[in-house]
Amino acid sequence: MTRSNPADIFQSIVKPGVKGIQPYQPGKPVEELERELGVINAVKLASNENPLGVSPLVKQALDKAVKDLTRYPDGSAFYLKKKLASRLGVRENQLTIGNGSNEVLELLARMFLSPTTSAVVSAHAFVVYDLAITAESARAIKVPAKDWGHDITAMADAVDDSTRMVFIANPNNPTGTWVSHSAIRGLLESVSGQVIVVVDEAYFEYVDKPDYQSSLSLLDEFPNLVVTRTFSKAYGLAALRVGYAISHPALADLMNRLRQPFNVNSFALAAAEAALEDKQFLADSIEVNRAGYEQLSAGLKGLGISFIPSAGNFIAAEFGEDAADIYEQLLRAGVIVRPIAGYAMPRHLRISIGTESENVRFLDTLTTILSAGEVA
Ligand SMILES: *Cc1c(COP(=O)(O)O)cnc(C)c1O
Repeated sequence: MTRSNPADIFQSIVKPGVKGIQPYQPGKPVEELERELGVINAVKLASNENPLGVSPLVKQALDKAVKDLTRYPDGSAFYLKKKLASRLGVRENQLTIGNGSNEVLELLARMFLSPTTSAVVSAHAFVVYDLAITAESARAIKVPAKDWGHDITAMADAVDDSTRMVFIANPNNPTGTWVSHSAIRGLLESVSGQVIVVVDEAYFEYVDKPDYQSSLSLLDEFPNLVVTRTFSKAYGLAALRVGYAISHPALADLMNRLRQPFNVNSFALAAAEAALEDKQFLADSIEVNRAGYEQLSAGLKGLGISFIPSAGNFIAAEFGEDAADIYEQLLRAGVIVRPIAGYAMPRHLRISIGTESENVRFLDTLTTILSAGEVA
């Protein structure tokens, strides 16, 4: 009997979709930069995290939760759902709580996609949709972007008989682009009720654009719509992994059957409940982001660097052919931003909006790099 290399054996038996997955590239953690390059005092503007941290109410809730590590978490997320439902004006049975909104996006793909089906996404859209579609061995129909954003009309036109899902990031990461309420309504009107339309509103809290509106108000009219939100961004709970979907109750029922019974841990549940109570922290986070956007956009303009107008807590700036080099130089100076070549945007870097002093650090470092480049 000949023995094959285990890697070859796994390749021959794994589901085809899994082979097609490109590993997700996270923003570089501060500790890793310190370990690899010995850089101290690094700032991370690479993962769209909340630069203010978390509400003090969250810390209190976590202290309390640490006292009961022996019990399983509340698998029904009873209290969190109750609070969310009243806050959002929906019913508890429309909610599915996930281990980050990433999990609910994956659950949706697992529910509706298979090798003979397809899902429509935009070029430069959040990469998790691709990962989820590919994992189900389904076909991703990638629609070219318009001004870096989703071309919703073209996305509606791309839907064919095999299509079971459309993913819309509103606003989108990494571009920061957003789509109007009327465009989303138009898409929902044009597709059949057998096409699940997922509107990912991970950055909803930050958006301040006159033509933007949450798609939640369309749920009663379009049962094939699913809206997802997260506690990872404006609420500052990225470490704890908690997000949710709002949908028709019959769809939520299916999602809740498929998820793990205890998919969201007790810390995440307690923290999310507490975070919803601190409206001041949320308002402060939004204000810091608004001011930071002005600061960074003015700074970039001053340096003659163009960027995509963003509705989120980050900015995709265009550095041309030098983007990878500038990323490395920023790293060595202790400023971590995010290269987005994996999003077919090799000429851009994505900068998460930080505190005022973090933004200054980025702009000053960039100024130094660019002026050194001119001399060379
Ligand atoms: C960050 C992000 C998410 C949220 O991910 P979580 O799993 O909730 O942390 C979802 N969608 C987009 C577009 C994002 O950028």
